[in-house]
This record gives sequence, C-alpha cells and structure tokens, in this order.
Amino acid sequence: MARKSAPTPPPLAAGPAPEVVRVHAHRVACDGVGGALGHPRVYLDLGVDGTVDCPYCDRRFVLDEGHGDDAPGVYEVSDGH
Ligand SMILES: [Zn+2]
Repeated sequence: MARKSAPTPPPLAAGPAPEVVRVHAHRVACDGVGGALGHPRVYLDLGVDGTVDCPYCDRRFVLDEGHGDDAPGVYEVSDGH
C-alpha cells in the first residue's frame, strides 16, 4: 500500500481571532452556536497541550482548571472517574 503524504490542514481563514472557550474537561463535544454556526456534534480531544480547535466553527478550546466558560453548544465530556 502506497504511503500517502501527510494531509495538510486547511488554511486558516483570515478574519477575527477565534473565540476561546475555557473548559474543565480534556474532552469536549461541540455542535456550534446554532444558526449559521451550528454544525453536527463533534467530539474533540484536548490532548497533551490542552488546546484544540473545532474544525467546524473555529472556536478554540483551552483546558483551564478552575475556570470554565459556559459557552453555547459546548459540552464537557467526562472521562468517567
Ligand atoms: Zn464547533
């Protein structure tokens, strides 16, 4: 099987800075903020660096122990302690 080259991420659209949403969980689900920015729910893993960008609505999720933004369309996913 031929090895495919690494996929290149889509270029970031020029525009306003992404909205940053602080979350407590290492895993979140996002389905947008409704209307034009609504999108199918996707699960995002914040990984080791504690940040991830939603590929649909470009919001950036940042792990922040202690603070948490109650942003619309964002669901913190418990890993089940
Ligand atoms: Zn999103």
